[in-house]
Amino acid sequence: MSDKPKHFCGVAGMALTVDCVSQLRKGLRVIQHRGQESAGISVFDGRIKTVRGMGLVHEVLSHRSLANIRGNSGIGHVRYSTTGSSCAENCAPISVTTLHGDLSLAHNGDIVNADKLRLKLQSEGWAFLTTTDSEIIVRLMANDLSQNPDPIRAIKNTMRMIDGAYSMTVQVNNRIFGVRDPYGFRPLAMGRLHDGYALASESCMFEVLMGEFIRDVAPGEIVEITPQGYQSHSIPAMPNKAHCMFEWVYFARPDSVIDGLEVYEARKRLGRILAEEQPAEGDVVVPVPDSGRAHAMGYAEVSGIPYEEGFMKNRYVERTFIMPEQNARDESVALKLNPIKSMIAGKRVILVDDSIVRGTTMRRIVQMTRRAGAKEVHVRIGCPPVRAPCYYGIDMKTREQFAATNRTVPEIAKLITADSVGYTSLPGLVKALGFPESELCMACLTGEYPTNVPGEKTRFQQRLDV
Ligand code: SF4
Repeated sequence: MSDKPKHFCGVAGMALTVDCVSQLRKGLRVIQHRGQESAGISVFDGRIKTVRGMGLVHEVLSHRSLANIRGNSGIGHVRYSTTGSSCAENCAPISVTTLHGDLSLAHNGDIVNADKLRLKLQSEGWAFLTTTDSEIIVRLMANDLSQNPDPIRAIKNTMRMIDGAYSMTVQVNNRIFGVRDPYGFRPLAMGRLHDGYALASESCMFEVLMGEFIRDVAPGEIVEITPQGYQSHSIPAMPNKAHCMFEWVYFARPDSVIDGLEVYEARKRLGRILAEEQPAEGDVVVPVPDSGRAHAMGYAEVSGIPYEEGFMKNRYVERTFIMPEQNARDESVALKLNPIKSMIAGKRVILVDDSIVRGTTMRRIVQMTRRAGAKEVHVRIGCPPVRAPCYYGIDMKTREQFAATNRTVPEIAKLITADSVGYTSLPGLVKALGFPESELCMACLTGEYPTNVPGEKTRFQQRLDV
C-alpha cells in the first residue's frame, strides 16, 4: 500500500555457458517487488553493454530493446530511489570503462559516508554524472582498477572506504562478483541454474528459473561465480551483524529464505507472538492484503479466532510512482482494496498488518472496515512502532512522517480511528526471528544505529579491516 516503506533496489548476476539475457530479464521480474521505478542489465559481449531505463522490467527490457544485446555473463538491477532522485540518469547498472577494461555495478543499500566520499572525490577533480551513491562506489573501484587490473583487490579496497549497507553484483569484463557488506544489512543469495551460476537479492529467483538456491553470500564475503562454480574470497568477519529485520517483516517475498530463515515462516511466527502478547476479543482475524497475510495466519492460529479474507485486492490498478497529495493516496487505497462485507458486518474485527509507518493507509482501511459494518476494529501489528529514520536503503528518512513519533499507543489508535492497537514487542520480534539481538538491525525501532551515522546514536562501531 502507498504509505508502506519502499525498498531501494534488487540485484542479480549470472555466469552461464549460454546467452544470459532472457534469464536475467526473467530473474529481475521475480525480484520486481524490490524496486519498480527503473530496471537495467549489463552483459559482456567483448565489451560491457548496458540497457536501462525508467519503468518496470518488462517495459524497459522489452524484446525490442534487447534485440542487439547478448552475452553469457551479466548483471541486473531494479530500483526505487532513496539516494539520488528518480530520473533516467540515476538508473542502474552503472557502467564505466577503465584502463583495464569495463566495469559495471548494481547496488542495493545506502552508503552512509557517501556525501563525504563524494566531496573528497570532487575535490580531487572527479566529476559525477549521477546523484547516486552507486556511482561513488563505481568511481572508487574504477580508480583502483586503473592502477591494478585485479578486481578482487579493487573490491576489497573499495570496501575499506565505504560504510553502510551494500549488497552488490559487480561485473569486470566477463567476470561476475557478488559482494555483501560486513554487517549483512541486505540479503544476497547464490544459486545454481541449468547452465551456470547466479546471484540474486532473494533466493526465490533461482527456483522460478528452475534452478536451486545454494546459500547466502556471507556478510563481508566476495564471491566470484563462473559457469562451472564459484569461488569465495572472505574477509575477516565482524563480531556483530546487522541484518535488516524489515526484510523478514515486510520487504522480501514470503517464498525467499534469508540467512537461513524463510520469510513466510518468520511472518507466521511474528503473528503467533503478536497473539500471545496482544490478545484481543474479536470474532474474526482479517489480514491487510498482501502484507499482513502470514502475520494474520499466525495470529489466528494462536488465538483460535477464525481467519477470513476481509478485503478484495485489485491487482490491476496501475502503479503510481509519486502521489504527493493525500487525497491521491486515499483514492489509491480505495481503488486497491474493497471490503468483503459478509466477512466483516456485525463482527469485532481484528485487523492484522506487518507495520505502520505513517498510519495514513491504516486509518483509511479502519474506516473502510467500519463502513462495511464492523462492530469494533482492533488493529494488531507484527513489528514494534517505527520511530526513527533508516539510512541503509529504505525510504524512511524523517521522524516527522511516523505515526509513532511523539504518540503513545492509545494516541496511535486515535490517529487511525481504531478501537485498540497492539504491536509485537522488541523482545518478541527478536524471538520470532531467532537471531541474537546483536545480529539484527532494528535502528528504525530503537534509534540506535549499527554504524556511525552523524547526529544519531551508535549501537556498535566497527571499522572494516580487510
Ligand atoms: S533501520 Fe530499519 S529498515 Fe533500515 S536497515 Fe535497519 S531495520 Fe532495516
